[in-house]
Amino acid sequence: MMAHTLPAATGFLVSARQGGDRAPGPVFATRGAHESVAEALRNQTFDAVLVHSGSPGDAVARAGDTALVLAGELYNREELLTLLPSGSDAGTDAQLVLALLGVYDLHAFRLLNGRFAAAAALGDRVLLATDHAGSVPLYTLPAPGRVLAATEIKALVPATAGTPPAGRPVADARRVRRVPGVHQVPAGTVLDLDVRTGTAVPSRTWAPALSRRVLSEADATDAVRRTLERAVKARTGGTTPLVVLSGGIDSSGVAALAAAHTDGPLDTLSMGTDTADEFAEARVVATHLGSSHREITVPTADLLGQLPYAVWASESVDPDIIEYLLPLTALYRALDDPARRILTGYGADIPLAGMHREDRLPQLDTAVAFDMATFDGLNEMTPVLSGIQGHWSTHPYWDRDVLDLLVPLEAGLKRRYGRDKWVLREAMSALLPQETVTRPKLGVHEGSGTTSSFSLLLMDAGVPDADVHRAKSLVVKEIFDRVVVEGLPPGLVSTADAVHQVAARLKETE
Ligand code: ATP
Ligand code: MG
Ligand code: MG
Ligand code: MG
Repeated sequence: MMAHTLPAATGFLVSARQGGDRAPGPVFATRGAHESVAEALRNQTFDAVLVHSGSPGDAVARAGDTALVLAGELYNREELLTLLPSGSDAGTDAQLVLALLGVYDLHAFRLLNGRFAAAAALGDRVLLATDHAGSVPLYTLPAPGRVLAATEIKALVPATAGTPPAGRPVADARRVRRVPGVHQVPAGTVLDLDVRTGTAVPSRTWAPALSRRVLSEADATDAVRRTLERAVKARTGGTTPLVVLSGGIDSSGVAALAAAHTDGPLDTLSMGTDTADEFAEARVVATHLGSSHREITVPTADLLGQLPYAVWASESVDPDIIEYLLPLTALYRALDDPARRILTGYGADIPLAGMHREDRLPQLDTAVAFDMATFDGLNEMTPVLSGIQGHWSTHPYWDRDVLDLLVPLEAGLKRRYGRDKWVLREAMSALLPQETVTRPKLGVHEGSGTTSSFSLLLMDAGVPDADVHRAKSLVVKEIFDRVVVEGLPPGLVSTADAVHQVAARLKETE
């Protein structure tokens, strides 16, 4: 297979319409060249603007009266190819999905393991699909005669100005704060829209397991090692990946598996602040794996100043998620290399309840069930975070096969012998130093001091201790309204201003 640093496209704005008005101009946080594509179909005109890094044609496929665009990539190509007659035109992921659509119609999306958002037009229909985890966010503004969709909210905002009715409600889809008519396509869903009426029928293509499997220790650890290894290998794209490494078990496991599938040394990168870092722990792993390792220190004041970038990229209004994403935003923004393929250990704690710091199993499984039922719409896994610097990030623990294995493991395999994430630690024990395997979990928001620094910033502005979490939520919403709803560049939006506004507002309502 050819080496691919980035997918053919990393974002899109599409407009499917019966005729008449033009598509809005493209606005993305994701960095990349833009390419316009126009496909005249029998009953509709399908226009797209792709964000790409050199081969936008590979992100578009057309056959007969069907056109498709795909942002992102697939991880089970080989498996999928066995479903098509040999010699099928399926060299790119977009062509492969198009060919599967011809065989399975929208059920094709139930077959895919990937990190993608897709839009297809056929007949009077528009299909909008997310991957199982909704890891590439996708939004739509449907109206009679015209359906718009984009991988970023901000690309749709201009189309909502002035022209009521702005859109139609979409069953089961979350509305976007303060952007009328725009809905987020749920995770693991394909929306089947009728371009004539703008009505949408959703079909779920994936759901996290609710049942739990009983496996022996040996079978469980063996399955975890093999499945994670496949997920890492599928994501290296034949290049030397960069692993963002904290020295925690999650990213260290990914780094160990990636090193085994990379010719020559792996690249690893750690970030810290002047308040806190995990440099020593990450170095233990880098030395063990012989990786080419770098460290980036971000001053805490700079880190907090980058909140508008984290919100602009993730388009999330959840303050906890923003605290996890902020240090990574700063890390990616400081990564001046040409476009890189980045692997993370992000998300392992959700199916494994890694933040569960005690022995009771009912509470552990409650946390897993709750988190797997509520992740959608948080945009925690969004590729735009690294996309603002032109990099592509991908998360092996949220591979569909890995989740389908980890989520249903019975709780006693996740917490065992007094250890969190036991099954993962055991699965990785031969590949990593013992001190890494047994290292307690430390969240990225803790290891970088982000949570405490953000709290301190608010308390310094006069926010009482008890109101800090609520104030964080208000600050994030305030910034969202500037950088997403109003479309201001994040460099022109100040964290300090948002903090002072929120502090003043809280004082008024005391
Ligand atoms: P653990 O959850 O056991 O602490 P971890 O540190 O690998 O393992 P998280 O703390 O959940 O995982 O962090 C999520 C991911 O973010 C990591 O797996 C890693 O890819 C990235 N990350 C976290 N902290 C850093 C850091 N200081 N430098 C670079 N990347 C980091
Ligand atoms: Mg190697
Ligand atoms: Mg983790
Ligand atoms: Mg950690």
